[in-house]
Amino acid sequence: MQISFAELPYAQDALEPHYSARTVSFHYDKHHRTYFDTLVKLIPGTKFENMPLEEIVRESAKDVSHTAVFNNAGQVWNHDLFWRSMKPNGGGEPKGELRQAIERDFGSVEEMLKQLSDKAVKQFGSGWAWLVAERGKLSVTSTANAFNPLVSGGTALLALDVWEHAYYLDRQNRRPEYVDIFVKNLVNWDNAAERFNAAPQHADSAVQPPRRAARR
Ligand code: MN
Repeated sequence: MQISFAELPYAQDALEPHYSARTVSFHYDKHHRTYFDTLVKLIPGTKFENMPLEEIVRESAKDVSHTAVFNNAGQVWNHDLFWRSMKPNGGGEPKGELRQAIERDFGSVEEMLKQLSDKAVKQFGSGWAWLVAERGKLSVTSTANAFNPLVSGGTALLALDVWEHAYYLDRQNRRPEYVDIFVKNLVNWDNAAERFNAAPQHADSAVQPPRRAARR
């Protein structure tokens, strides 16, 4: 098997006070771990056994007879990115080419975050909100359950988990409060920028510098 359970990129209490060690402990050690352990039990003896995780997600999404594999592989992949979408002392604003692309496609960073938050708050039931790069263009989207932009060919830059287990211990039913704190205090823009710069579509449509009046 090629898959492995990704280490948390910081200590379990490193996101306090914005995201509690207790929530990280349940979310990472129990929920995320269970998706991984279930996947490990499902794939031996199947065509998925020796695939890397991304390929398991893409392939299992194509056929409803593989729903159990897809649900667990998707959730492992989604959580791997979720933990890397946050960092201690996160938030603030993106820099460099990612920032330019956000300003080009949304008008401003503030507007993009507003639209991302709206997707996260309005996602009905369990799911995810995403910042996605696809063919050089950025968008925000939400998906239900284990679905993710990988399935539709996009590169996810940020993953925001809106399953209740992601926030219920800290904030009970107050999803908007959790989303607001994620956006303001937790987002890891460095990771998002790295993913943007490495996106396969990026090379075809590099962000053009802002247009300026020709000098004469
Ligand atoms: Mn989760």
